[in-house]
Amino acid sequence: MLSGYLFKNIRTTQRLLRNFSSDAKFFKVRKPSRKQNKLGLEKEKRRKNKLQSTQFFYIAARARSPYQEVEVVSNNRKAPLQTQRKSIAPRFEKKTRQKISDYLKQMATPEIEAQLAPLRAAVKEYGDLIRDLKAKQAPKIDIDKAVVELKARKKLLEETEIALAPKEASFDRLKLEDLLKRRFFYDQSFAIYGGVTGLYDFGPMGCALKANMLQQWRKHFILEEGMLEVDCTSLTPEPVLKASGHVDRFADWMVKDTKNGECFRADHLIKNSIEKLMNVSKIDKKVSAEIKKDGEDVLARLEGFDDKDMHEVITRFKFKSPITGNDLTEPIAFNLMFPTQIGPTGDFKAFLRPETAQGIFVNFKRLLEFNQGKLPFAAAQIGLGFRNEISPRQGLIRVREFTMCEIEHFVDPEDKRFPKFAKVADEKLVLFSACNQLDGAPAREVAIGEAVANKTVANETLGYYMARCHQFLMKVGIDGRRLRFRQHLSNEMAHYAQDCWDAEILTSYGWIECVGNADRACYDLQQHYKATNVKLVAEKKLPEPVDVDIVEAQANMALLGKKYKKEAKKIQTALQQLTSEQVTAIEAELVAKQLYNLDINGEKFELAPDLVNIKKYSKKIHVQEITPSVIEPSYGIGRIMYALLEHSFRQREGDEQRTFLAFKPLVAPIKCSILPISANDTLVPVMDAVKEELSHYELSYKVDDSSGTIGRRYARTDEIGIPFGITVDFESGKTTPYTVTIRHAETMSQIRLEVSELGRLISDLVSGRQQWSDAQAKYPKFEASAE
Ligand code: AMP
Repeated sequence: MLSGYLFKNIRTTQRLLRNFSSDAKFFKVRKPSRKQNKLGLEKEKRRKNKLQSTQFFYIAARARSPYQEVEVVSNNRKAPLQTQRKSIAPRFEKKTRQKISDYLKQMATPEIEAQLAPLRAAVKEYGDLIRDLKAKQAPKIDIDKAVVELKARKKLLEETEIALAPKEASFDRLKLEDLLKRRFFYDQSFAIYGGVTGLYDFGPMGCALKANMLQQWRKHFILEEGMLEVDCTSLTPEPVLKASGHVDRFADWMVKDTKNGECFRADHLIKNSIEKLMNVSKIDKKVSAEIKKDGEDVLARLEGFDDKDMHEVITRFKFKSPITGNDLTEPIAFNLMFPTQIGPTGDFKAFLRPETAQGIFVNFKRLLEFNQGKLPFAAAQIGLGFRNEISPRQGLIRVREFTMCEIEHFVDPEDKRFPKFAKVADEKLVLFSACNQLDGAPAREVAIGEAVANKTVANETLGYYMARCHQFLMKVGIDGRRLRFRQHLSNEMAHYAQDCWDAEILTSYGWIECVGNADRACYDLQQHYKATNVKLVAEKKLPEPVDVDIVEAQANMALLGKKYKKEAKKIQTALQQLTSEQVTAIEAELVAKQLYNLDINGEKFELAPDLVNIKKYSKKIHVQEITPSVIEPSYGIGRIMYALLEHSFRQREGDEQRTFLAFKPLVAPIKCSILPISANDTLVPVMDAVKEELSHYELSYKVDDSSGTIGRRYARTDEIGIPFGITVDFESGKTTPYTVTIRHAETMSQIRLEVSELGRLISDLVSGRQQWSDAQAKYPKFEASAE
C-alpha cells in the first residue's frame, strides 16, 4: 500500500517529490467528476476531434513497484480529507489495456516474455479449472472461489504487462492525428468542399519531412549505388499498360451493398469481419473453438483467394455490409487504374501510371546504351503513382495518389551475385519467411549472408537490396523492433516472380507493407519486346566464338498483305519473335498438314506454306543476347512517413497532454528553433548572429519570438519535431564572443556554447557524425529553470 498526496498541479507534485526519498514517484490518475460519466464524455470529445486537456490529478507517492496499489490519503497537504484506493493499472482505459496485452503477444522481447509466461500460465490454469468445475457441475461456492482467484491472477498479469510494456504499446492514434492536423503536417484534400477520401495535401511540416526523406533516399540509393535516375511521365498510353499486364490484371475484388451500392474491397471486408468475429468469440465461448479455427484458416489463405473463394466465405459466414448490415453482391473485379485520354479526339486511350516502373522498362535500351552496354546496372525513379483504391480508410496508408521511389536493377539471369554483397552479409534482419508463416512460427533475426547462403532469400542481389532497405528505414528513424521482412507465399506472387520480400512496419493499423523487394525475372522486358518488337536485351560476351544453326520464319508480306490486310504486320512481328525450336515445329506441321494455325494472344491466323518462308543458316556468334532479370525494390514514401510519425510520437513522462515528435535530426522538417528569452532589443544582435551562422551551414530554423513563456514555446516547437532549440538569453550578448544555449528536445537537457560553434555542431548532430551525448561531454551543461 502506498500513501501520497493528490494534486491537480504537476509542478506542485514534482516539487513535493523532491522531499520524498529516492524511490518516490508520481503517478497520474484520472478523477471523474461526480456528475459526469467520464468515459462517455471522453468519447464525445474525441468524436468532435477536439482533444481538450482532460482533468488529471497527480499523486506523489513512495513507490515500491510501478504497478502497486496507491492509497491517496489526502488531496490537501494540510488537511487529509479522504482515503481512496486506486490501482495504477486502471489509469489506462480497458481498450488501452487490451491493446497493450495484444501488443505484447506479438512484440514482447524474450526477457519480457520470460516474465509474462508464468503469469499467463497461471491464468490459463484457473481458466481450465473453472471450465472443468462447470463441466463436473461442482458446487457454486467452489466455482465462485475459483473465479475470484482467476480475476486476481488476470489482474496481476495485466498490471505486469502495463509495467513492462514499452511506451508505444499504449500509443494513442487520436492524439497523433490531432497533432498532425493542428500543426498542418497533412490533411484531407479539398476539405472545404467536404474532402475526398484517399487524397491528402501536405502542409509545410509534411512537405519538409517528405522532402528530407526523399533527399536521404536519393543519397542512400541513387548516389551511393551509382544508379541512373529517370523522370518519366505519369500519363501512360494504353498499349504500354496492356503489355505490362495492368490493363487485364491490376484489379482488386470488390463487393457492393445491394441496397445503397456502397463499395468494399472484398478481402478487407472478410479480414475485418473475421477479426471482429474472433473478438466476439473471446467473449462468447460457445462459438469460440469452431469460429477461431475456421477464421484463422481463412485469414491464412486469404491472400491467395479468387472471387469464388471470397464469395464462398462471405456466404458461409453470412457477412453483410459493415455500415448498413445489408446483403452484399458477389465479388466483381475492379481495375485500380485511372483511365483518361490524350488529345482532343478521345481515341488515344491512356491511364495515369499505377507505378513508376514501366517508365524505366520502356527506356531500357537507352539506359543500357548510357551504361556502355554493360550489365548489371540499376535505374531509379521518384514520382507519383495513382491507384483508384476501392475504399481507402487508413489515412496515408491507403491513398489514391502517392509518391513512389522505385529501382529496377538489371542483372544477368544466370548470375545474380552482387559485387558489394560482402559489405552487408553480416547485417541482421528480422525475416518472416514463407516457411515460418506456414508453420505458424515467429519471424527470426538472421544475418542476410546466412539467409542467401541457405537459399531462404533467392539471391545476393535481392539480399543486398533488403539489407540496404533495412539501413535506409533505420536511418530515417523507423523503430527496428517494429520492422520485419515478410516473404510472399507462392500463391501471393505473380507467376513470373522468383522471390519477394516486403518490408513491413508495425503501426497501430497492424503490420503494413511499406516496401516491396521483388525478383521479377525477365517478365517486364519480354512483355514490352513482344508488344513492340524492339529487342530489350543485353549482350553477353561468350568465352569463345561459337557456330550456331539459325532457323527463322519469314513472312511473305505480298501474299500475307492480300489475305490479312492490316493484320499482316502483326503476323510478321509474331513470326520474327519465334525461337528456333518453335520455327522447327511450325515447319514440321506445314509439311504434314499444309497448314499452321498461328495464335497471337488468343487470335488465330491460318498460315498456308506459301505465306511463310523457313530460312536456315549457320552463323558464328561472339556474344549471346540475354533478357536481363529485374530486381525491383519499390518504396511507398507516404506509408514510411506515416509509420515514422507513429514511431516518433512521444508523450512527456508525467504529462500525457504534452505530446511531441522525436524525429531523427536527419529528417526533422526544421532543424532548429531560435527562441529569444524576451523581446528586449539587446538580444537582436545575438539573434542575427545565430541566424547568419545557421544559414551558413544550410540549417533550417524557425524563430519563435511570441510572447508565451519559454516552456510553452519549447512545447510548441517540440510538437513539430524541431530537435534543437537555441535560446538567446540575457547572458548571450553580455560578453563577446556571444553565447547561447542549445536544448535537445527529446531529453530536454541543455548545453551552453559560443555562437561561432553552433553551425558545425548542429550540422554534425544532424548528419549523425556526432551524438547529443558527445555534445554534452564537450560543452558545459546549462541548468534550465523547470519547463
Ligand atoms: P506495390 O507495387 O503494390 O508492391 O506497391 C509498392 C509500394 O507502394 C508499397 O510497398 C507501398 O509502400 C506503396 N503503396 C501501394 N499502394 C499504396 C496506396 N494505395 N497508398 C499508399 N501507398 C501505397
